[in-house]
Amino acid sequence: MRPRTRFAPSPTGNLHIGNARTALFNWLFARRMGGDFVLRIEDTDIERSSLSFEASILEDLKWLMLNWDEGPDIGGKWGPYRQSERLGLYRELVDKLSGNGVAYNCYCTKVRLEELKKSQLASGIPPRYDNRCRGIKAGEAPKGASPAIRFKVPPKDVSFADGVHGEVIFDSKSFGDFVIMGSDGAASYNFAVVADDALMGITDVIRGDDHLSNTPRQILLFEALGFKPPRFSHIPLVLGHDRLPLGKRDLSASLRSLREEGYLPEAVLNSIARLGWSPGEGFLSLDDAARLFDIGRLSRSPSVFDPSTLKRYNKMAINNLSHEELFRLMGLTADEELKRALEAVKPNAETIGGLKRLIGPFTGELSLTEDARSLLSEPYSKEVVKAFFKEAEGADTLDETNYLNIMNGVKRATGEKGKRLYMPIRAALTGQAEGIELVTILKLLGRDKVIERLKKIGV
Ligand code: GLU
Repeated sequence: MRPRTRFAPSPTGNLHIGNARTALFNWLFARRMGGDFVLRIEDTDIERSSLSFEASILEDLKWLMLNWDEGPDIGGKWGPYRQSERLGLYRELVDKLSGNGVAYNCYCTKVRLEELKKSQLASGIPPRYDNRCRGIKAGEAPKGASPAIRFKVPPKDVSFADGVHGEVIFDSKSFGDFVIMGSDGAASYNFAVVADDALMGITDVIRGDDHLSNTPRQILLFEALGFKPPRFSHIPLVLGHDRLPLGKRDLSASLRSLREEGYLPEAVLNSIARLGWSPGEGFLSLDDAARLFDIGRLSRSPSVFDPSTLKRYNKMAINNLSHEELFRLMGLTADEELKRALEAVKPNAETIGGLKRLIGPFTGELSLTEDARSLLSEPYSKEVVKAFFKEAEGADTLDETNYLNIMNGVKRATGEKGKRLYMPIRAALTGQAEGIELVTILKLLGRDKVIERLKKIGV
């Protein structure tokens, strides 16, 4: 059967590295087998969901080039693709279960449920519903109360072959009858997911390990509704450097902030592909990755997101792009001089933002960073810059042929060496304390511009 996978984010925050990786693995799985990738928005939590988060998730997925075949923006024959637009479908299926006697009305109040939980915890048993309303006959229902609807959990072992973990077994007795529709008519997460996956013909559910314990409940619902359960694969979570699962609170891991810092989508894809998957070191295109992807070879333990891997791939991605493309991303117009500067600064840049900072001094006006300003205010820096100015004025050109002579002259005149020699000159010429090699800076700027800059900062 042609596979159909889905990515089902809740629009309650921006996309982060962890859920982008789930999207990627679903995309790769579908593309490898020539199947469909569906985008579904799980917005049943009305209070925390918002259309602006939905828009931002769609934008981030597009930026990552993970195109979908059906979704809320483009529709499709199994839609609608927002859970908030599918409430009628859930109601129909819940009624079906109630009609078959496998779901029942529950009139327990919040207070009773909380007390039950407290007393179970106090006696050391894992909290679960005691199925009290199971036996209530139609005539015995409390008047005027609007009930929640619970699923009658059949006592059995639920087993499934997980694509990552292999055979998994749960005993259904470990959970009580669970709510499938709240007293406000809202379908529960477990119910809505099953209804959607079944009605949308999803063949493979690939999601985080945090959903593993939901799966037996969902399989029982598939069976009760008369649908064949999909294949499940639970991928280990992505942890931050604090070894806690990455989540919405980790702003630096949000796709939006990575994009704003100047990370390229190809680099993000390469680094998230390595979270739990080992396709080798080389830079992969999405097509390469789709060809190689094998869910059975994913790691079973969590992986830690390492920003240095992302930086390494971003450097590679920057080097893979044409100069035209890099100028476009930096919002600069290229000329011959700037092209030479780009060639020189490119190996030092980890992000597009960094590249723009490094090329800044060669685009025209000089602006001093705080670090450069404070460095240049030191008396020794002033001496070094003054001595350098004298040497530069006396030279015909400034390039590698007379660079050593010039620097030796400055050394002699000031008694400075190493960093104390180079940094003030670099700061005076580029406005930045860190950057590319001084000899390259001199070559790129040329003698006249060097002198003009030094005069401008008031040697
Ligand atoms: N909406 C769920 C989440 O964001 C996804 C549930 C699922 O994949 O089944 O975690």
